[in-house]
Amino acid sequence: MMTPVKAPGRTRAAIDTPENMLAHALAMESEAAERYAELADQMAVHNNQEVAALFRKLGDIERLHAENIRRQAAGYELPRISLGGYRWGSRESPEALDPGEVHYLITPREAVKLALRHERQAAEFYGRIARGSASQEVRKLAKGYEEEEKEHVRLLTEWLKRYPETGCDRDDDPDPPMEQE
Ligand code: ZN
Repeated sequence: MMTPVKAPGRTRAAIDTPENMLAHALAMESEAAERYAELADQMAVHNNQEVAALFRKLGDIERLHAENIRRQAAGYELPRISLGGYRWGSRESPEALDPGEVHYLITPREAVKLALRHERQAAEFYGRIARGSASQEVRKLAKGYEEEEKEHVRLLTEWLKRYPETGCDRDDDPDPPMEQE
């Protein structure tokens, strides 16, 4: 019998045991925590103290999230997943910032926007599982994580208000004329 044409994206929701869900969540949150902490160190080295403090705070938040998951996972035998075996639906885990995206002169506004993007991706990742997993226990876990990530998104949206558009964001026109407000 011939197998039908590949259904793209079908494997994304194929996290169907609590052990597998916990292992993914733990990996994702630990990686996000470590990445934010590394970036905070790098920014501090470059004397970009304001962004260093932002990343430091985000790293602390993610570390707490990872610790909560570790507590949840007590009593479960978590599977060992090889680096390529995670079902992120992308090459990298959705929440961790790519250090290549972070210039040492990054402004606090750019840093918050970048973090926002990754926190949204994390919420979407969990949301897909919360809606798509065959296991009710997994859906419940994923729903909880999704809520947590949405909370991070809300927090960052608040932070963004502290750093209004200056007209010199790197993702804006690189050669801005004298602007008339
Ligand atoms: Zn988060």
